[in-house]
Amino acid sequence: LVLRRNKEENTVIKVKGCVIGQEQIVAVAGPCAVENEDMLKETAFKVRAAGALILRAGAYKPRTSPYSFQGLGETGLKILARIGQEMNMPVITEVMDSEDIALVAEYADILQVGARNMHNFSLLRKLGKINKPVVLKRGLAATIEEWLLAAEYILAGGNDKVILCERGVRTSEPWTRNTLDLSAVALVKEISHLPVLVDPSHATGRRSLVIPMAKAAIAAGADGIMVEVHPEPEKALSDGEQSLTPREFSRLMRELEEVARAV
Ligand code: PEP
Ligand code: MN
Repeated sequence: LVLRRNKEENTVIKVKGCVIGQEQIVAVAGPCAVENEDMLKETAFKVRAAGALILRAGAYKPRTSPYSFQGLGETGLKILARIGQEMNMPVITEVMDSEDIALVAEYADILQVGARNMHNFSLLRKLGKINKPVVLKRGLAATIEEWLLAAEYILAGGNDKVILCERGVRTSEPWTRNTLDLSAVALVKEISHLPVLVDPSHATGRRSLVIPMAKAAIAAGADGIMVEVHPEPEKALSDGEQSLTPREFSRLMRELEEVARAV
């Protein structure tokens, strides 16, 4: 189901007036996590002004250490939904546990499966039964085939609204958090009809690399980008090192326009 049957077949996903998978490049932006209402509101306001169409923010955070900030949970979902409504932006947030699907789906317009859960087949199966779009991030060490088969679980369950997201894979390189696999983006666009986003924030882990890699992603054929933006990255509760400031994000959006025109 995940493979294209012909050259023209392209899955187009529409959420609240926002179209993913057509000519227009879609920018998803927002903080790693919902930290509080004020910071989310400020971020949403600024990324929307810069041209972002969709707001992202985690309420359930898959942190490496159980002692790190884990997200605000349901409180975070409520804040996110409220800000999304106020700003008239659809919202994306991660669902980490099958038990939370119904709750997350109540507040989110698009549900995200994080890289660490890409192989969680029971979660994927259950997401095949909802009627909201799902962003499926590539696993930390997943092959392209494993990634597409994970998407197949959702499609096979009856949910055809799947958006793939390349977020880098683990390699021997320690100077970046992950290694952004742009050939996977070009290849997946060639063999699958599903829309593909690229997350240069988690892929690189370094603020200075986010803009160049976002531009490269669009040049490689991605349908959009997902970028972490924080009003004060140095104070972020998670992933500050890779978060753009709103000003940097707005520069990225201007530069992306030129890339999009060229491809
Ligand atoms: C995220 O996008 O919030 C996230 C945790 O990313 P990943 O699952 O790709 O690490
Ligand atoms: Mn993050």
